[in-house]
Amino acid sequence: MLLIALCLVFCLSPAHATGFNGQSYVPLADWARASGLRCFWLKRGDEIVATNRTTRLVFDKYSRMAEVNGINVALSFPVALDHGTLLIAQMDLNTAIRPLLFLPRFADPKRITTICLDPGHGGKDTGNHTFWHSEKTYTLALALELRDQLQKAGFNVILTRNKDTYVELPDRPALANRRGADLFVSLHFNATPTGKDDVEGPQTYCITPVGASSTDAQGEGANFGPTTANRVEQRSLLLAYQMQKSLVQSLRVPDRGVRRARYAVLRDAAMPAILIEGGYMTHPVERKKIYDAAYRRQMAQAMVKGILTYQRLVSPPPLPPMVPATNRPVVKIAPSTWTDTNKVSIPNARREKGITNSQ
Ligand SMILES: [Zn+2]
Repeated sequence: MLLIALCLVFCLSPAHATGFNGQSYVPLADWARASGLRCFWLKRGDEIVATNRTTRLVFDKYSRMAEVNGINVALSFPVALDHGTLLIAQMDLNTAIRPLLFLPRFADPKRITTICLDPGHGGKDTGNHTFWHSEKTYTLALALELRDQLQKAGFNVILTRNKDTYVELPDRPALANRRGADLFVSLHFNATPTGKDDVEGPQTYCITPVGASSTDAQGEGANFGPTTANRVEQRSLLLAYQMQKSLVQSLRVPDRGVRRARYAVLRDAAMPAILIEGGYMTHPVERKKIYDAAYRRQMAQAMVKGILTYQRLVSPPPLPPMVPATNRPVVKIAPSTWTDTNKVSIPNARREKGITNSQ
């Protein structure tokens, strides 16, 4: 029976790929061509690249990690290889790739004004421990630094805790919802479960798509129903992507990727919500940086940059300040510079046409 089942899984032709892994799969090259991307193989057929002037996607056979314009993004299902054809789950195109490449500009009609920061752990919950250092100390220190920088950039900031107190997990997104926050950012630092000390770099989580299992859940959770957070999951993904990209590029650290999880603090948030693991307290070099205020300042700067990039992509530009008509300066136009409005070109619109959200 097992042999027959294996044969059924591996002998499916692309044309009959539906049902593979319990998912509908499509040939990657066909999707890429239809999306205006050119495809070619690398590494003797282990890797496929889909690219055009502004986009470069890299997929590895059997892998759940794809590269989107230089940043790792976790897929919900592994890329499959069938008779030399690389297949991708339709769900991953819909929930991991398309939102990063084609989410409509200004998808959020409201400007971001209020950001809720959630310093992980606190009080009796210390978080990770390495020697005499507790994660809760550094998540709070980072949150206070980030609050100051975001306020300087003109945002209102709410904190789920501003001292060493214990806050129940569901109370954290509940506060953001009650106060009408536009973004929710939970801050953590990582540790390997075994204390293995060679893993380093940030990773950024957003909500898992409905019907998929979380990145590190080892197959669990696929039957979890829709959560509040799934209503804005495309924007959460874009926020996670821009945050991860800014952290990796600004801090020049290894990229642990954009990942998916149904963490309690993420799933009940009604606004785009992410959880950042800023680095590993088990790594001998990275932990020293985490304990250093100057490095946390740099990290906060990278986070502000990530939020501003996201804002530019999803929020409409601010309205110009209202000037009473009677106070408007009179602009005299010399006859030689008059233009026929019917012939005025729209360079901005043209420039935007070929630009993707993940650049
Ligand atoms: Zn934590």
